[in-house]
Amino acid sequence: MMQPEATDQTPSQGTQATFDVEALRAQFPILARKVNDDRPLIYFDNAATSQTPQAVIDALDNYYHRYNANIHRGLHSLADEATAAFEGARERVQRHINASDKREIVFTRGTTEAINLVAQSYGRAFLERGDEVIISMMEHHSNIVPWQLLAAERGVVIRVIPVTESGELDIEAYQALLSERTRLVCVNHVSNVLGTINPIQQITELAHAHGAKVLVDGAQGLPHAQVDVQALDVDFYAMSAHKVYGPTGIGALYARLELLEAMPPWQGGGEMIQLVKLDGTTTFAAPPHKFEAGTPAIAEAVAFGAALEWFEALPFAAMEAWERQLTAAVEAEVNSIEGARIIGTAPGKTGVVSFVIDGVHSQDIGLLIDQFGVAIRTGHHCAQPLLASYGLEASCRASVAPYNTLEEVATFGDALRRVVGMVRG
Ligand code: PMP
Repeated sequence: MMQPEATDQTPSQGTQATFDVEALRAQFPILARKVNDDRPLIYFDNAATSQTPQAVIDALDNYYHRYNANIHRGLHSLADEATAAFEGARERVQRHINASDKREIVFTRGTTEAINLVAQSYGRAFLERGDEVIISMMEHHSNIVPWQLLAAERGVVIRVIPVTESGELDIEAYQALLSERTRLVCVNHVSNVLGTINPIQQITELAHAHGAKVLVDGAQGLPHAQVDVQALDVDFYAMSAHKVYGPTGIGALYARLELLEAMPPWQGGGEMIQLVKLDGTTTFAAPPHKFEAGTPAIAEAVAFGAALEWFEALPFAAMEAWERQLTAAVEAEVNSIEGARIIGTAPGKTGVVSFVIDGVHSQDIGLLIDQFGVAIRTGHHCAQPLLASYGLEASCRASVAPYNTLEEVATFGDALRRVVGMVRG
């Protein structure tokens, strides 16, 4: 598979390594698309979902062309092949995040389902009235609402870590929230609105010192960090394949094996049992199968593995440097507009640029800039409490990926200036 290399092809950037972005783009068929009167697509909505390289499309295609079968139960060749590919994908996820055992990887529909699994299984079994769950102000709704459901059912108390003006977790406030009542700390690795990369190791160390477990929403972490769950020392890590060049409908939960062993199932059905008896003495399968009731998204799991394999072959440091360059360029374009304000300015942030512009409704920007072929996101980004903390109901969000180019950023800037001019008259 051809992968782009780190090059040094931009003399004006001095020693800053750039990235063979054209070689990368060539692997994404969708990037050749035109939208709205033949305008080249400029896809700046990567934090919502990333595009899919040919290698991943091929993995899906190959599955349905060659070995589509249900897994684990069949004795025929296709079932064997499908099972091997599915379990191979589990091992790929395990290696990718450096989990110590493949049984620690539970396939789910994505991050949302992984967090709900923990809330419904671990939460219901081990949290009691008055126990505290700490979340943060910068959480996606998927790391807020499952805890609210648990709180309503079990009398668990939710505490919230505030966020500073620059968009960082207030670690002092976090320390003050921790107590012997804290049972679980649930934070995202990378914010989908601010781009902030949170200090997970430090958060975990502090939580563990109080005997609390840590769940990390890794939806935006997987594409932006070289995740090592052992080094981070987290107890749970939730992931979505579609944020890291894989398909939709599949993701995973990492959880320490001893936790999965102690946790009760949360959904019943085929695959998650060892023996079913109608007198109620049904015995459950061991993890991870205990948490995978029913036929899973087999093709998607296999393609998730292919996406991680593809991603691992990219030159990570050069890709990061390229994304930083793109992000700075997007920020410069936004800042060129009078009355623009960027939300989230933490050092080392990822390629997410959330912004509002005085006197111009975010939704109008999103709709009008689409006419220029530019896809950005507008709205609350499933993080209403965070936006409210900045006094906002909505923002625009341009989020770049390594396959974006500086020319696209320049076109985005021109389009944004024209849109703002149109609205302001
Ligand atoms: N957490 C964060 C930080 C996210 O960005 C997202 C996706 N927008 C999610 C959770 C939810 O992921 P999914 O919809 O794939 O379950």
